[in-house]
Amino acid sequence: MSGQIDTLPPLREVVERHELMAKKALGQNFLFDLNLTSRIARQAGNLEGYDVIEIGPGPGGLTRAILANGASRVIAVERDPRCLPVLAEISEHYPNKLDVIEGDALKVDYKKMLQRPAKIIANLPYNVATPLLIGWVLNEEWPPYFESLTLMFQKEVAERICAKPRSKSYGRLSIICQWRCETNIAFEVGPQAFYPPPKVTSAIVTLIPREKPLECDVNKLERVTQAAFGQRRKMLRSSLKPLGGAALLKKAGIEETKRAEELNVEEFVALAREI
Ligand code: SAM
Repeated sequence: MSGQIDTLPPLREVVERHELMAKKALGQNFLFDLNLTSRIARQAGNLEGYDVIEIGPGPGGLTRAILANGASRVIAVERDPRCLPVLAEISEHYPNKLDVIEGDALKVDYKKMLQRPAKIIANLPYNVATPLLIGWVLNEEWPPYFESLTLMFQKEVAERICAKPRSKSYGRLSIICQWRCETNIAFEVGPQAFYPPPKVTSAIVTLIPREKPLECDVNKLERVTQAAFGQRRKMLRSSLKPLGGAALLKKAGIEETKRAEELNVEEFVALAREI
């Protein structure tokens, strides 16, 4: 089942015609099922009146779904030039609605290109997924230039983003993301949905920027989470010694015998403020 969301040819046929063999080095695991890509696009809510930034459109399965779901414009950043002719066909089908930028998503200044409120939607290449996410979550201006992030990650990364205290996935990524955003795993996607199938299960995560995250210096928050989770089995009075140890914990009102995974985001922020 591949789904009928537009009158363009099925993706499998498009990929064969353009001889677009997936390249592992570029994290290429393509989605061919347009019902699934539509479900991902719908997860981002209303797209009418929005510029949507998509990273790694590849053969365009998700791009087509975002456009079919009413986005005013899609700005798609793709590193692999072999994908450009396929994306040009989609652009012809949706005149003036798809801008493709050939390049590295880590190096693009997105804000400069926007004409409307923006949402980011992507089936991310796994090799750059976490650095891209951290770049967005630590955007200097806050609230940032995007209203939401709807992103496919490996399930294990999705769990780290959304983990709660006292779970094994809880760590630095959970705290940085949840400090600034509400995070949620929307649904899982099995390996067989991709071509070629990866070894692991994936999941769609949504991140909605908090209007007013608790105030704190992000560099200090990073220092404290790095020290605490760098030695997650130790009590904080020991793991946080280089930052002030027991005295720091006392100032922040936190018991010195606690361990990193027992503190919630507010408590990490309290520690960061006292450094
Ligand atoms: N969106 C397509 C889909 O869902 O079928 C393809 C997703 S595939 C997981 C990741 C895509 O990101 C590939 O098309 C790959 O070429 C592209 N890519 C890899 N590294 C990139 C980078 N640094 N910047 C932009 N695109 C990149």
